[in-house]
Amino acid sequence: MQNNPNTTNRVNQLRKRIALWRDQNQLITLVPTMGALHEGHLSLIELAHKLGDKVVVSLFVNPKQFGANEDLDLYPRDREGDLAALATRNVDLVYMPTPEQIYPSGFATTISVGGPSQGLCADSRPGFFDGVATVVTKLFLHCQPDLAIFGEKDYQQLLVVRRLVRDLDLPIEIIGGPIVRDNDGLALSSRNAYLSKTERQAAPLLHKLLEQTARRLKNGETMHEASRPALRELATAGFEPDYFELRDASDLTPLQQLEEKPARLLIAARLGTTRLIDNIAVMR
Ligand code: AMP
Repeated sequence: MQNNPNTTNRVNQLRKRIALWRDQNQLITLVPTMGALHEGHLSLIELAHKLGDKVVVSLFVNPKQFGANEDLDLYPRDREGDLAALATRNVDLVYMPTPEQIYPSGFATTISVGGPSQGLCADSRPGFFDGVATVVTKLFLHCQPDLAIFGEKDYQQLLVVRRLVRDLDLPIEIIGGPIVRDNDGLALSSRNAYLSKTERQAAPLLHKLLEQTARRLKNGETMHEASRPALRELATAGFEPDYFELRDASDLTPLQQLEEKPARLLIAARLGTTRLIDNIAVMR
């Protein structure tokens, strides 16, 4: 039996602990999460241990990044399971503030990042990246880590956070962690819990089509040509795509075809009531 990790929901306690570690010249790494932890989250914690000395994980379901018709109330929460999982990973401190602590009454500030926040997920989730940028800024100011780790699973979010840190000169290094997938290719996600058995069986198609389209692009097809069969197959399998795009991997500028620079293929599609996102790197 592992002991539960140290937890706090108080920013002053968090800061005291961080100050102590900083006095000891410890490199502090933050892994922000919304809980309902899976192997994808845990891989980021492993990376945090490799890169830093002390690992802080935040568990906070951020109401500001859910739209009015989205799944805030349904979003999976498993505090006990999360703490048990974190106990196996030697996390130094778990920060789990309440919504009232992050957004006290009268809270009236929004952090809005331009650039990579535009298009893709922002089109179907207006306000989402403002919510992300606002909470991430608060978590950064609460924890003041040297490093923060974000998953490439949410690739647009990773670039938004990088831009936020760059634009505001926040002294935090942002590290992207690779996507962890199930054996059949489906990217792990807390929202996979919403999928019915049949939907779960269909879901790996997303990753399969990303790979297939990447091969076509590498053979010289344009994105328009390469994505056509994939979009047909998605429709036949009952997916409703939000977007399927080829973008510059560094700033998400749209690309019509592969060029001599790293690119990213990004997809979002609804399967039943669940919205799935995925992406892969593509190089000529
Ligand atoms: P969430 O709890 O969904 O907000 O995710 C917290 C962090 O875990 C984010 O930086 C995500 O990008 C990352 N993450 C989620 N799923 C995966 C995955 N399958 N592989 C790697 N990182 C992930």
